[in-house]
Amino acid sequence: MARVIVVGAGVVGLSCALRLQQAGHRVDVLARDLPLETTSAVAAAIWYPYRAFPYERVTAWSGTTYHELERLAADPDTGVRMVEGTELHRRRTSDPWWRAAVPTLTRVTAMPPPYVDGWSFRTPVVEMPVYLRWLSKALVGAGGSITRMALNGLPDRAEVVVNASGLGSRLIAGDPSVMPVRGQVLYVEQFGLDRWWLDAEGPTYIVPRSHDVVVGGTDEEGEWSRTPDAHTAAQILERAAVLVPEVARARVLRHKVGLRPARPQVRLEEERRPSGTGGVERVVHCYGHGGAGITLSWGCADEVVSLVGPA
Ligand SMILES: Cc1cc2nc3c(=O)[nH]c(=O)nc-3n(C[C@H](O)[C@H](O)[C@H](O)COP(=O)(O)OP(=O)(O)OC[C@H]3O[C@@H](n4cnc5c(N)ncnc54)[C@H](O)[C@@H]3O)c2cc1C
Repeated sequence: MARVIVVGAGVVGLSCALRLQQAGHRVDVLARDLPLETTSAVAAAIWYPYRAFPYERVTAWSGTTYHELERLAADPDTGVRMVEGTELHRRRTSDPWWRAAVPTLTRVTAMPPPYVDGWSFRTPVVEMPVYLRWLSKALVGAGGSITRMALNGLPDRAEVVVNASGLGSRLIAGDPSVMPVRGQVLYVEQFGLDRWWLDAEGPTYIVPRSHDVVVGGTDEEGEWSRTPDAHTAAQILERAAVLVPEVARARVLRHKVGLRPARPQVRLEEERRPSGTGGVERVVHCYGHGGAGITLSWGCADEVVSLVGPA
């Protein structure tokens, strides 16, 4: 049985860790932030390919993830549900580039101004705190481990390391091309919403969960502040109320900010380098998922397993 160290306990690290374990590897996760403290815990989180490249690989990974999340939605303990929703546009738009990744997409024919185009589809909505707990429990329950450890570089004494450190790859993989794209959201009380809504301009989205509704958002490139800004929150609410007017009257429960790990392209590849024991260490990098870490998670995890190879 090969021992694999996974660096990172966000959705990407945990999905890779679980798939590697299911393939027969012994897996230990090391992470500075534990699952509920990660960017992944802040995500809305709807299956939607957003700010992740290249399109062709992203569409394939997204398609795989869609089907796996749909399968997981059969178990309420996972925190995954299939939810209908609508994306609206202010100008005529052709089908989305990721069209092949969803089974059905229906053009909307009637919509309120200022919208003139849009489509509806059924997609997984993931309640991240529940889902991250479920992933962690599955991993640890089958003999894996998750240990808090802040690293200055990738471990150099393991046979195989999977680097799923997101934005942390700037430091531990020395990759300055990973940049934060700041996203601010509000959580408001659940006011009976059972569909998600999205206006890609803004970006503005409203995602219903069991006990609250996530209202977003922003995408501020190169911004590092994790402190919610009151003026930005007011603007988000104003934009969201155009899509769903009830949002303006809903009680605000809390504010959150997350830094999306954006990169010109997702880095999913193997690197071989000298190990600290005189041999060769294999590192499989899997980071830079931008605004789509949940959407790409299982597709990427499968590819990581095929790069790591048999146990
Ligand atoms: C507001 C917001 C809304 C979003 N909505 C969606 C959505 O609806 N759908 C979707 O698919 N995506 C969404 N995203 C994007 C998604 O959250 C990210 O793509 C995803 O969380 C990236 O996951 P990750 O596991 O790569 O990184 P992270 O969740 O950031 O995890 C990285 C891990 O690496 C660890 N690490 C980093 N540096 C070190 C170090 N030096 N030593 C040890 N460990 C380290 C961290 O501690 C952490 O455990 C959203 C993001 C934001 C901010």
